Amino acid sequence: MEIGRQNESTKVETPVSSADTDRFRSEILSDAEPLAIHKDFAQESAAVQRQIADFQKEHAVQVVPSGKYYDYVLSAGGKDQVVLTTDGKPDSLDAAAKKLEQLVIEKQSALTKIFSVTFSAKGENVEKQWIQKPDCTWERGPMIKARSPQLVELAGIEAALYRAQPSQNNSDGTQTKFYFLEDNYHKNERILAFYVHSDKNGHGAVYYEPGANLGVPATEKDIERSDQTKFSNNESIEALTLHELSHSHQDRMGWDSGKMAGIAKEFGWSSFYDKTENETKYLLRGKKGEFYRYGSDHCKDKEAWVCCDKDGKPLDASGKVAGSFKTAKQFTYDQVRDLAEVRPLTWYFPNPKEMFAEGMMFYRSNEERRAQLLRESPTLYAAVKKQDNIESAEAFGKLADGSPKYIRNSEGRWSESTSASRKELADFENKVKAEKQKTSFVPPLRRRQFAYAG
Ligand SMILES: [Zn+2]
Repeated sequence: MEIGRQNESTKVETPVSSADTDRFRSEILSDAEPLAIHKDFAQESAAVQRQIADFQKEHAVQVVPSGKYYDYVLSAGGKDQVVLTTDGKPDSLDAAAKKLEQLVIEKQSALTKIFSVTFSAKGENVEKQWIQKPDCTWERGPMIKARSPQLVELAGIEAALYRAQPSQNNSDGTQTKFYFLEDNYHKNERILAFYVHSDKNGHGAVYYEPGANLGVPATEKDIERSDQTKFSNNESIEALTLHELSHSHQDRMGWDSGKMAGIAKEFGWSSFYDKTENETKYLLRGKKGEFYRYGSDHCKDKEAWVCCDKDGKPLDASGKVAGSFKTAKQFTYDQVRDLAEVRPLTWYFPNPKEMFAEGMMFYRSNEERRAQLLRESPTLYAAVKKQDNIESAEAFGKLADGSPKYIRNSEGRWSESTSASRKELADFENKVKAEKQKTSFVPPLRRRQFAYAG
């Protein structure tokens, strides 16, 4: 999810456009599960097992008995790594927790050194919670506290940063700060994560909601190894972070300073000016020149996709102005994806920003997902590639012909633009375009329709 810019001049305390995102994700975190207890603890007392389970939930490393010792195993980057060993006694867990805290601090420092990003500390104030009143206006509630990240979260963020860079740079010269919230940003709404333009210090930041990363694989490489029946929001911390940093990219590229309508037009969205609400709104164009709009009549209603006219007025089944979303002809996410002029890659496309952020997440993730984006939605692929290259040229410089000095290779990493690297990329794209087969890699993302949030 992405929270609009606060109106600085009038200090309107409203999370602008926060309500534009869908509500179907409210159940997403209910069946997330922490790491399973190692089978060799089966003989231990219930109290010890609970102690181990609590430890694993808090730190997201698995405790593995090994002779006279306990090994503490972190799963990240496609492998299991013993990050710590203690005496094999339950009362060693306290000492292990302290050592893990130290490892977290060291990892944070390393990431700060490379990318200049920072992280919330345990007990740090984030900002006051938003509460939506029955009349749909927002008010502030109690202060939300943060916690510090887990090693597994830092591993996922690290993987994302190598791909998302330079999008972690804010346009004001600062860098993204990652906050791990102890309470929901919006009261009674459970979402995975947010990108905020302006944290308490006035800079761009990512907020992870409570439970967002619970039991979730650190990186894309860990997804294949994970038990995919164990959680519904089946994507990696890396992918979620890539999505959120795509909003930082949009911020850098001036989407909120007048560029959004022009960019969104390139991948299937038209805009109209809503006079009653005094803002520009977006319509997804259909293949036959028709329009679709995601919304509801009232903030407490479930949002839905409807067909509408060019001014955003919902239409009924006979094509007449319906007067409301409720009485308009409604469409499922899958129907709209099939009907759209430019196909959204996932079920999360309530507006151009989110559809693009999902596309950019695919584009930057790895070869498999990038190929899927190109195969299923070549126009969205082209729009993302164009913006990614503009950002690259601005951040890393240009060649004599004006093209970016660094291009993103098929695996989503930066490589210097040479005739060899350009040919390699062109070969990859041509190969994908030549493939007839339409689908691959569906299972891990299938459940995102119940899952996505951010
Ligand atoms: Zn988002």
